[in-house]
Amino acid sequence: MSGWIDKSKYDAIVAGGSFAGLAVASRIEERALLIDRDEVGSGQTSACGTFLSTAREFGCENSVLQTFRRVVFHIPEEYEVRLIEPLCTFDYKRFCDSLMDNVGADILKAKILGMREGAVVTDAGKFRARCTVDCTGWRALLAGSLKRNFVRKDRLGFWLETDAKYEDDMLHIYAIPHIIPDGLAWIFPIGEFSRIGVGSYCGNRNLLKALKLFFDDLGLVFSGKCHGNAIPYGLREPTVDDLFIVGDAGGQALPLTAEGIRKSLRYGSECGRIINAVIGEEISLVQGLEEYRGMVVKSMRGYEALLAVQRIFVETGVPDILMRAFMDRKVSEKLQKAYLSI
Ligand SMILES: Cc1cc2nc3c(=O)[nH]c(=O)nc-3n(C[C@H](O)[C@H](O)[C@H](O)COP(=O)(O)OP(=O)(O)OC[C@H]3O[C@@H](n4cnc5c(N)ncnc54)[C@H](O)[C@@H]3O)c2cc1C
Repeated sequence: MSGWIDKSKYDAIVAGGSFAGLAVASRIEERALLIDRDEVGSGQTSACGTFLSTAREFGCENSVLQTFRRVVFHIPEEYEVRLIEPLCTFDYKRFCDSLMDNVGADILKAKILGMREGAVVTDAGKFRARCTVDCTGWRALLAGSLKRNFVRKDRLGFWLETDAKYEDDMLHIYAIPHIIPDGLAWIFPIGEFSRIGVGSYCGNRNLLKALKLFFDDLGLVFSGKCHGNAIPYGLREPTVDDLFIVGDAGGQALPLTAEGIRKSLRYGSECGRIINAVIGEEISLVQGLEEYRGMVVKSMRGYEALLAVQRIFVETGVPDILMRAFMDRKVSEKLQKAYLSI
């Protein structure tokens, strides 16, 4: 590594330029560097479903492809649930482009290798700044290089999906053990097409067979082009040494639903605000790290509760009592409010 340039002109470095990284960078007003191995907006891994209010909150409404008032759960009996907050599916590139409108950072396309002696090490050099944020997804490349066993392989789910020509006006979630015994399948419509996938809570990566089986069940033609990724479940440490950790790098996707986009954006935005205060010397770095940690840890109980339900689901299937509760409008609204408040 000797001879590498140490470029110290940045106040903040954001490693990873997807939901979490863009949300952080969009709040930083000073000299920041955003590093990603891919062009921003080119690496979609997700079904890109979120609450419509979240797309609006982050100025990304123009990326919305379809909106939904209802979700149908197939357990395998069908339960149609009315949502208190509409959901939407969106175009990943357009969503990232809208977030980028507020990003003033320099962009570096480089492979991140880890962190050493306070510097982010990439294949294009070493970079150091007062504040550094790990938004590199489930591998948590910076935090993982600072702390052994930061990435718990026993706490990873794996999700795989593809697009198919299939139109619908509702979202569908399937808990069907003959297709996927330890997880879920889904249909997220996007106009003339739908994003159709399967996910294993236990991190089973051999999901292609299950996905093909699901297509057979639906009577659809499988194109063969898929994308997938691991999703960590259970909050990880939000900071390690002087490093802020946001999004999947911090295990911030919600257990059970694997809803990670809203959480990455919210925590990312708050982390960016805190970093601004550190850079502006309103608070010290230590105070900033403490504030961010405190904010994330506040949600711990909610994450643990969802994780407990996820474990029950994996061991015994979806509890009947839960689905029956959803059929009572008042209870359903209460449960949805509790979920949204985590
Ligand atoms: C199939 C699937 C479907 C999903 N569907 C939904 C959904 O509908 N709704 C929802 O809310 N959540 C969904 N999720 C979860 C959601 O996608 C994640 O929680 C979310 O993407 C996390 O965002 P992030 O920015 O933390 O990480 P990521 O989106 O993983 O972004 C990490 C960024 O870091 C960059 N990076 C990684 N390694 C390096 C490296 N070595 N060098 C440089 N750059 C690097 C990547 O290029 C990427 O841009 C889904 C996940 C999967 C796998």
